[in-house]
Amino acid sequence: MNRRYRKTIIAGNWKMNNTLSQTKAFAEEIKPIMPKGKWCNVVLCVPATNIQAAVRLFKDCHIAIGAETCHELDHGAYTGEITAAMIKEAGAKYVIIGHSERRQYYNETDFTVNKKVHAAIETGLIPIICVGESLEQRELGVTMELIAYQVKCALANVAPENARHVVIAYEPLWAIGTGKTATAEQAGEVCQAIRTVIRKQYGAHVARSVTIQYGGSMNAKNAEELLAQPDVDGGLIGGAALKPADFVKIIEAANQE
Ligand code: PEP
Repeated sequence: MNRRYRKTIIAGNWKMNNTLSQTKAFAEEIKPIMPKGKWCNVVLCVPATNIQAAVRLFKDCHIAIGAETCHELDHGAYTGEITAAMIKEAGAKYVIIGHSERRQYYNETDFTVNKKVHAAIETGLIPIICVGESLEQRELGVTMELIAYQVKCALANVAPENARHVVIAYEPLWAIGTGKTATAEQAGEVCQAIRTVIRKQYGAHVARSVTIQYGGSMNAKNAEELLAQPDVDGGLIGGAALKPADFVKIIEAANQE
């Protein structure tokens, strides 16, 4: 983390979990144990049906709300889809874009990710852009090239004044939901490489402002070590964001002086 230049952001990704009543129960449970620390911003990305209620329920404990995806267009005949403006009007501040599960199950490509990033920015949402390599790609030794490509595609035609506000989440596919975490060195190395890509494209000022998270089985035990890496500015957390006590421990790790 480097709090001098950029925000530390701990974001939960609930995926397809938690009904409205479960969201209310989560809020009741987390409120009394929510750390008061001033360092880290906390976000919960929740199912679209819960956004409006979650904004109200988590306001008191300063947890901002995000969506888990959005459509790239601003309206149209796309049954079941949700626009960035709908998410924004529901009160969310963030939207996850290009999560590996969206890329894998819903055919999202680097091209659609770029369009969605533009839709989010134009609407005033902060995109949390996910990039990451598979185990096969890591073993082939192409991780850095692949991540650079994904980041460049995601940010294509994004103006510097907007690029500095995006969040990038490095999520190695082999670590998501597997209980297998990247080592702190692996996470730090890739997050540093992402910053280098941004520096080459936008210059040092933008590069040092961008929050780069690590995601992939981050939990109460490994958070501190991962967050100690200078280019790891937070986490995108799946499983451990479903239990208030576990999520709070990660926030505490990010809040340490
Ligand atoms: C994720 O889904 O973005 C994620 C990192 O999940 P988990 O923490 O469960 O690996």
